[in-house]
Parts: sequence; C-alpha cells; structure tokens
Amino acid sequence: MRLTLIIFSLIIVISYSGNSIAQKQAPVQLLQLATGNDSTITLNEEVVKNLFLNSKLKDRKVVVLSIVGAFRKGKSFLMNYLLRYLYAHYPSLTSTELINEGDDWMGEPEEPLTGFDWKSGVERVTKGLILWGDVFLHDGPRNEKYAIYIMDTQGLFDTETTTAENSKIFSLSTLISSIQILNIFNLLHEDQLQYLQFATEYARFGSSAMDSDKTPFQDLLVLIRDWNGVDEYRYGLRGGNAYLNRFLEIKDHQSKELQSVRRYIKSSFKNINCVLMPYPGKTVAVDKRFDGRWISIDDDFVTIMTELFNHLFKELKPKMINGKAIKSDELLVFINSYVESFKNDSMPEAVSIYESTMDKQFSILMAKSVDLYVEAVSSFDGEVSTEQDINKLHLAAKDKALKYFNSEKKFGSNADGFNHRKELIAKIDENFKQWKAVTLSQLRKLQEQKTHRIEQEQLL
Ligand code: GDP
Ligand code: MG
Repeated sequence: MRLTLIIFSLIIVISYSGNSIAQKQAPVQLLQLATGNDSTITLNEEVVKNLFLNSKLKDRKVVVLSIVGAFRKGKSFLMNYLLRYLYAHYPSLTSTELINEGDDWMGEPEEPLTGFDWKSGVERVTKGLILWGDVFLHDGPRNEKYAIYIMDTQGLFDTETTTAENSKIFSLSTLISSIQILNIFNLLHEDQLQYLQFATEYARFGSSAMDSDKTPFQDLLVLIRDWNGVDEYRYGLRGGNAYLNRFLEIKDHQSKELQSVRRYIKSSFKNINCVLMPYPGKTVAVDKRFDGRWISIDDDFVTIMTELFNHLFKELKPKMINGKAIKSDELLVFINSYVESFKNDSMPEAVSIYESTMDKQFSILMAKSVDLYVEAVSSFDGEVSTEQDINKLHLAAKDKALKYFNSEKKFGSNADGFNHRKELIAKIDENFKQWKAVTLSQLRKLQEQKTHRIEQEQLL
C-alpha cells in the first residue's frame, strides 16, 4: 500500500514538473501480439479501461486516428509531433490547459521529441497496437462532443512477423480506427494495396449484407514519405491526391486482379486521400544522435506536416459502425469483440466479424433500452399506491424504452431488428415481474401497517 502511494506521488510529481508531453502521459499497449507458435492477440483491458470509461468521456463520440506501415519508417516520429499539435489545440483527460497554444504548437526548437517510442533500433519491440495514454476532448461549434484517440502500430512487416500476423494487426487497426494512415516510403506499390485486401473483403460482405450503400470504413490517408517525384507531383495533399487518383485509376489493359483490388479499396473507404511528404533532411534520416528536435528538421517537411495535421483535424467526423456514431464506452465493447474474432490462428471470416459487430450493437442498444425502462419505473417508486398504478407506470416506461429502441439506427436486416425487439420486450416484462412483485409486497406491508394502526387507534 505504502509503495503504491509512493509510486502514485512520484507520478504526480513527474506529471507536474514540466510541460513536455511524455512527462504527462505515456503510451499504453492496447493489443499485444504474441509471436511464435501460438500467435494470439491479447487485449490489455485493465490497462486501457480508464481511457474508455472515464466519466469525462461519457456521451462523447469517438474519433480514432491510427497509423500503420512497415517498421522504421518514421511512423512514431510523426505521431509524436501530432501529439504536440493536439496538446496545443485540445484539452485532454490529463491536461485542461493547452500546451504551446496555436502557431507555437511545435514547442521549443531544441526540445527532444518524446511520446511513443521512436527510433528504436533493431532490438525487438512488443508487436501490436499502442494507444496514447490520454484522450483529447473536442467540443465543436454545433455542440458536438468528441473524444480523440491516437493509435500507433509496432513491429509490423519486420523480418520476423508473418504475413498472417501483419494482416491481423492491419485489419484490427482498420476496424478500430476512423482515420487510417497508411505510411509508406517513396512510392505506392501494388503489394501495399494488397494489405488492404482484408478490409476490402469485409467491405464486400458488409455492403451486400446491409441494406444501405454505406462504406464500412471512413478515411484512408496514404502518406508517402521521402517523396522524390516532385517534378511530376508536388508535395502535400494536392499533389498526393493527383498521384493517388492516377494510381487507383482502373484501366482496360490492367489484369483483372489489379482492377478488382482498386475497385474494392474505393468501395471500402468513404474518403481516400494522399499526402506526399518531403525528405526531412539528413539529420532526421541518418544521424544516430538525433533526438527529434524540430530545429534539425528541414523546413519543407515542417510545412507539409503542419498542412497534414490541419487537414486531419479541420472537420472532425465521429467513428461510425454500420452507420451509427460510436461513443467511448461502446468502442471498448467493439474492440473486445474484434479481438475475439481474431484470436484464432486463421483469419476470421468477414461474415463472423460482421455478425459479432451486429450482435454487439444490438446488445448495447438493448441494455440501454432496459436501463431506460428501469430508470423510468424506479423514479416513481414512492408514488404508486395501487396495482393499477403499477401497471400504468410499467406501460408508460415500456413505451418509452421501445420508442428509444425503434428510433435508434438499426443494423442488419428487418428480421434481426424484429427478433431483438421481441427479446427486449421479454427482458422488460421479466424486469416488470420482479419490480411488480417487490412493489406489491411493499404496498401490502404498508397497507397492513395502516390497518394495524387504525385497529390500534380504535382500541384506544
Ligand atoms: P517507425 O518504426 O515507423 O515508428 O519509425 P520511427 O518513428 O521510430 O523512426 C525511425 C527512424 O526514421 C528515425 O531515425 C527517424 O529519425 C527517421 N525518420 C522519421 N521520419 C522520417 C522521414 O520522413 N524520412 C526518413 N528518411 N526518415 C525518417
Ligand atoms: Mg514506431
């Protein structure tokens, strides 16, 4: 206990001793991939719980930004600058004040870069998804309330990770995020598109199973580092989009396979953009002693990086699952169910992911509807005096809960909705039975007490 206290005080001292972000928060391992014979995926639920269930996040819709791609290609480096940008623009769970607000978001020119582990040499790192241990809070002009999560991937496409493992992590991060950044070097290759294959398979199933034209994923941003074709396409978003559109064009002379990959990718993501990043300079790229200070980064890189961050947060859109905006606590439920689907050795069938997503959505919706019912009846607990009162109250509360269930967006087919509604009614009626029994016995007791009192009074 004492040791816990000392550690806790130490954490507090450290977190208030400066305004650098790493001193405030640290990355946490969200999902861990154990390699070897049993390549299982573990969700560190206890470690991340507070990042989803904290009361400050209640009713906030989520935005999840994730980055994937080969190791040692500057992903974590970029995410750490993104964290500085976010701390300068949004309050967070741990800091209510903005740090280096506005144009000064990059901080001191010689400040070492901290945050996610970056520049880790060849030594082995834990593979999986790393979540930043803080959540940014954005209140929009039209009363939108968002919780922004930042996710990094580690250990992908190194020499020891198998293709199946890569695909699993890649797919999981795509399923969890609302903005996926695909970080690549120099040029876009066909095989990089192949890594979106699973996501596109899911898309194909999802769009035929759902009676809507919704794309399953939202934003994909292809981020090309060390772009060297600047004579043809300029750095930044405009050049990038022109390049990407050309690359994704479907042409007659292409093989069927190349054409279908392109078609699927376009149908999987609502928006696909591309940014071409300049070379950051020799110090960043090769100097072993480089500590991340921005004074040593080429100006061009800083300009485009700022353009990229402004673009990413210009207009926030919540993460949607089957057309419904997801809240913080719900996101954890979905992450859980995705991890379950990916636990086995083989890749899960798109069908099973779709079904478990739908099941989870219905169970969240049903739990909320039952909560509404219970809340409605218990708020009148003291005011019922007859069995008719109880029945009346029950019907009104049931009506409220069912109206809520009906008004919320549905997933799956009409039959799924119908069956779950039936299940909800059964649950409410079960609740009613118990509540009625308890309330009637309370009423009876009250009545008995009353009669007893009257009898006593008459005796006197
Ligand atoms: P990650 O494994 O993809 O997360 O890569 P890191 O962020 O750890 O960076 C690996 C190395 O790449 C570091 O030495 C960085 O200084 C360097 N680096 C960062 N950004 C760039 C870039 O845009 N181009 C080049 N050539 N190197 C970069
Ligand atoms: Mg990294």
